[in-house]
Amino acid sequence: MVCCVTPTHTHLRDTDPDVAEAIAGEERRQENNLEMIASENHVSEAVMEAQGSVMTNKYAEGYPGERYYGGCEHMDTVENLAIDRAKQLFGAEHVNVQPHSGTQANMGVYFAMLDPGDKIMSLDLNHGGHLSHGHHVNFSGQLYEVEQYGVDPETGYIDYDEVAEQAAEFGPDIIVSGSSAYPREFEWDRLSAIADDVDAHHLADIAHITGLVAAGIHSSPVGSADFVTGSTHKTIRAGRGGMIMTTDEHADAVDKAIFPGGQGGPLMHNIAGKAVGFGEALESDFVDYAEQVVSNAKTLADVFTDAGIQPVSGGTDKHLLLLDLRESHPDLTGEEAEDALDDVGITVNKNTVPGETRSPFVTSGIRVGTPALTTRGFDDDAMATVGELIVERLNNPDDADVASEIRDEVDRLCAEFPVYE
Ligand SMILES: *Cc1c(COP(=O)(O)O)cnc(C)c1O
Repeated sequence: MVCCVTPTHTHLRDTDPDVAEAIAGEERRQENNLEMIASENHVSEAVMEAQGSVMTNKYAEGYPGERYYGGCEHMDTVENLAIDRAKQLFGAEHVNVQPHSGTQANMGVYFAMLDPGDKIMSLDLNHGGHLSHGHHVNFSGQLYEVEQYGVDPETGYIDYDEVAEQAAEFGPDIIVSGSSAYPREFEWDRLSAIADDVDAHHLADIAHITGLVAAGIHSSPVGSADFVTGSTHKTIRAGRGGMIMTTDEHADAVDKAIFPGGQGGPLMHNIAGKAVGFGEALESDFVDYAEQVVSNAKTLADVFTDAGIQPVSGGTDKHLLLLDLRESHPDLTGEEAEDALDDVGITVNKNTVPGETRSPFVTSGIRVGTPALTTRGFDDDAMATVGELIVERLNNPDDADVASEIRDEVDRLCAEFPVYE
């Protein structure tokens, strides 16, 4: 059992042992399990130090150079560093690093461009979309009129001709691209052209692939989409938060929509973390990391395909796979698969698949991602071993002896590839 970060939390252990123990427990969980939730990662100790700093004490409403509070000179320094580094990483004209999360970033774009009742067109949640793209339980589905596009049930790919037809008929004000579980690259230029044809704006939500885009491993929508939103804690390891990139034309509208439109004081400790994480992503080894993330996902796809488990769309272009269990394991639900893997220390999430017949709490698939394990140093060989362990478990979800063998192997891998040394 490894545990190396929280022992330095001496004040916390004195004043609040309950919280200290929960944090230590979470650290042990992360060290001793294989984290394969596609949206998760491990940030550096440097990012955590920036986040856990006095920056949390300060109000800094406004933007660098034009704050509503005194004493903001160091706030300006970190926010400008975050902005400048993001511009360097993505080549964007304008960056807002204040959104508290990816959802808030999307909200900022909607508030900047839409009135209640305006129309959004986006990818269906069951086909890989996101709640903040107009789902009825989310503000985006309640404030706006929404129509969704999907993937071709045969190929698992988006059919852009159909999207174009749908857009012409529906007449959206914003077309949203980007996804949580679509394993293929989006054709950004194609979607921007479709949006242009119907006089809509194009919002590309790169939440999951922010790091892959920054590294140049995945094509970038910056320059073609009007707005690009992202999370800062998924494939880019800059701590929990969101960001918006746009052109000079829409800069003011976006900034006003975030503050004062949708948020109060920015979370300056998180913005400091973003600055540090973006700085790390500018280092040359970040490209190697991003390449390995994708290579590892392709390796996993091969292992699953060889074992007869179908990845939706036949594989992946990025950091995640969506496994459709209906053919290979018709009696195993996504929920049961998630639990069976959890038992052996492999953390994934159940996920609906295109053409889903079960409820979102049960599902027929699991989503598997490689960003966190790649941060720990997993290469293709180690990832192939993980794939084989997953297959073994899915084939024997109720066998305690098999489970215990797999758990031993997971322990060995965790010890070989520590998160925090
Ligand atoms: C994760 C994600 C978001 C943002 O989520 P938050 O939890 O609000 O940061 C937005 N869009 C997509 C497609 C996502 O996958």
